[in-house]
Amino acid sequence: MLNVEVVVVGPLETNCYLVCDGNSCVIIDPGDEAESILNALSNRRALAVVATHLHFDHVGAVKELTERLGIPFMAHRLDWELKKIFDELATRWGFTKPKLPEPVFVSEGSELPLNLRVIHTPGHTPGSISIIGDDFVITGDTLFAGSVGRTDLPGGNMDRLRRSVCGLYRELPDNFIVYPGHGPSTTIGEEKINNVVIPMEACLDGSGSNSYG
Ligand SMILES: [Zn+2]
Ligand SMILES: [Zn+2]
Repeated sequence: MLNVEVVVVGPLETNCYLVCDGNSCVIIDPGDEAESILNALSNRRALAVVATHLHFDHVGAVKELTERLGIPFMAHRLDWELKKIFDELATRWGFTKPKLPEPVFVSEGSELPLNLRVIHTPGHTPGSISIIGDDFVITGDTLFAGSVGRTDLPGGNMDRLRRSVCGLYRELPDNFIVYPGHGPSTTIGEEKINNVVIPMEACLDGSGSNSYG
């Protein structure tokens, strides 16, 4: 059974998750504050750093962690191709643009350490991924408790986001815990009913099946 711990980091209060099986952990979305994340990791071993997408608030501590721990960085190629544009966004908002090591590219169906699995959930960004564990999904900025990620930033697309969220509703059991990139956790069943932007009833036109590209 995997254990999921959260460390809230940085000015945008990003949820960095440590997914651990005993003494082995995968670090997901280390947006900032490498030191706090290392403290939370304590003497356990980290196997990889994974980003749900490459917005600066999810990757600010990637370089420091991968260098200090000597582990790979994993992300989707479609976001890596937008790195320059995401950098400009960070600068425009007054944040420093993160330096990143070249990722090991993951895509729909990729297996991560600890038997975690990648599904491609584009919409918030083209390369947004969600990460599936035994009874949970880490959704980055795709799906939040009560809401979804914005689609007005470069590469965003509301119709794709809707198909991605509907795909999660269709593929995952209602009792699956949703760990989002910001804010509290929720469940698939809860969001199907109570999500203000994309509830299950927004999915009833047949979209969502085979939506992962
Ligand atoms: Zn984002
Ligand atoms: Zn974010």
